[in-house]
Amino acid sequence: SEFSSLGLSDWLVKQCVQLGISKPTAVQQNCVPPILQGRDVLGCAKTGSGKTAAFVLPVLQKLSEDPFGIYCLVLTPTRELAYQIAEQFRVLGKPLGLKDCIIVGGMDMVAQALELSAQPHVVVATPGRLADHIRSSSTFSLSRVQFLILDEADRLLEQGCTDFTADLEVILGALPSKRQTLLFSATLTDTLHQLKNIALNKPFFWES
Ligand code: AMP
Repeated sequence: SEFSSLGLSDWLVKQCVQLGISKPTAVQQNCVPPILQGRDVLGCAKTGSGKTAAFVLPVLQKLSEDPFGIYCLVLTPTRELAYQIAEQFRVLGKPLGLKDCIIVGGMDMVAQALELSAQPHVVVATPGRLADHIRSSSTFSLSRVQFLILDEADRLLEQGCTDFTADLEVILGALPSKRQTLLFSATLTDTLHQLKNIALNKPFFWES
């Protein structure tokens, strides 16, 4: 299939077919190869473009080669998006026995702390709540994270009621500097360029 020509393994191509996904979308076509090559990526892509699978697929492939500790951290602006992203990891990552964990506001802190300390492969979080956990707890470590994904980055920056910059500082401080960072956003603003400069290293840039 065309997914295998992007460099994805047979087992993932099979999972795609099971989901009824057989032809890569533009963001997948363009962003999967550089992610597999180990590059940071800045992708301009809207909801509905297939951007979630564009990062879930290559992350799962890399994770299957070296699953140890919390492997991938996704930051997303809303609870609903967090559930959708975790669902794609779960469905596509089923053959790996993938363990994921959703860390969003409004849910029990203690239950979340237990889930974090159980070393899930993937953590999907809203920044404010994850930063709260990092500030208050030493029962989990993000020091093995290989992938940081900033999903809907323009909306992350817009969250007026939370102090995203302070939260991001706390989160970046808990991550290893040697990692791959992927940023997806519908728009590219000046503030987003700042964020890019803080978090990304010579990213591959893609715009539809
Ligand atoms: P997203 O842009 O990530 O929010 O994805 C929008 C929807 O497109 C999701 O329901 C995906 O399951 C679906 N999708 C992702 N990749 C493909 C693809 N290559 N072909 C058809 N549908 C897809």
